[in-house]
Amino acid sequence: QALIRFDGVGKTYPDGTVAVAELDLDVAEHELLTLVGPSGSGKSTLLRMVNRLVEPTSGRVLLDGDDVAATDPVRLRRGIGYVIQNVGLFPHRTVAQNVATVPGLLGWDRRRTRERVDELLTLVRLDPALHGPRYPHELSGGQRQRVGVARALATDPRVMLMDEPFGAVDPEGRRGLQQEFRRIHDELGTTVLLVTHDIDEAVLLGDRVAVFSQGGRLEQVADPVTVLTR
Ligand code: ADP
Ligand code: ADP
Repeated sequence: QALIRFDGVGKTYPDGTVAVAELDLDVAEHELLTLVGPSGSGKSTLLRMVNRLVEPTSGRVLLDGDDVAATDPVRLRRGIGYVIQNVGLFPHRTVAQNVATVPGLLGWDRRRTRERVDELLTLVRLDPALHGPRYPHELSGGQRQRVGVARALATDPRVMLMDEPFGAVDPEGRRGLQQEFRRIHDELGTTVLLVTHDIDEAVLLGDRVAVFSQGGRLEQVADPVTVLTR
């Protein structure tokens, strides 16, 4: 059974823009699915329907068999990590405090939070020196993105939604970050939907690649080798 099922899902914004044409798509548990296509082809809209930042105008999104429209958004988002370009770290909180955001909201005790933060910063291979009182503006773009990934993983979400997560990282740093992320995914087995406009990134990272075109049409879903040779 699919962990995430898009069942006749479409989105037309109030101004009449068809962002996502009705589509069916299944994502298996543990899969890393990349969504690739030109700017404006509906990838972000589709992603944001999973955590209910956008409501579909047709069809349903099922998470583990349950219609997300019938799930309380706060509870829903607790099980879904969300990483966007430029991350949106809290500038006045240290790296560790940023990573501890959701545990803080959930009222974890200090010791458990501290252990989890250490574990996560190690997982994303941030220099241990950064565990100290460092603030986001002191980090490189790639380091900030690692903090964003660590923060999103804090509660061990079953699903990660990533929207151009490496888009703001310089080209030299990006390759390393992609490989690190692939390793983290293989280690944790989190189900990931990752949006990118970079076909190389889609092919490098994806177990399968979903290709979108203008008008939010899903052209094909294929394994990376097939996409490359087309
Ligand atoms: P992508 O992620 O592939 O760049 P988006 O999902 O961001 O595509 O956008 C798909 C289409 O929907 C675009 O034409 C975009 O301008 C439009 N769109 C996105 N958000 C809104 C909105 N809130 N209101 C109206 N149109 C929107
Ligand atoms: P803020 O945007 O200031 O973080 P929110 O109340 O929107 O405040 O979010 C509270 C927490 O939930 C934050 O830690 C944020 O990372 C997380 N969060 C917010 N929106 C989402 C979402 N759509 N999916 C998953 N987590 C989210």
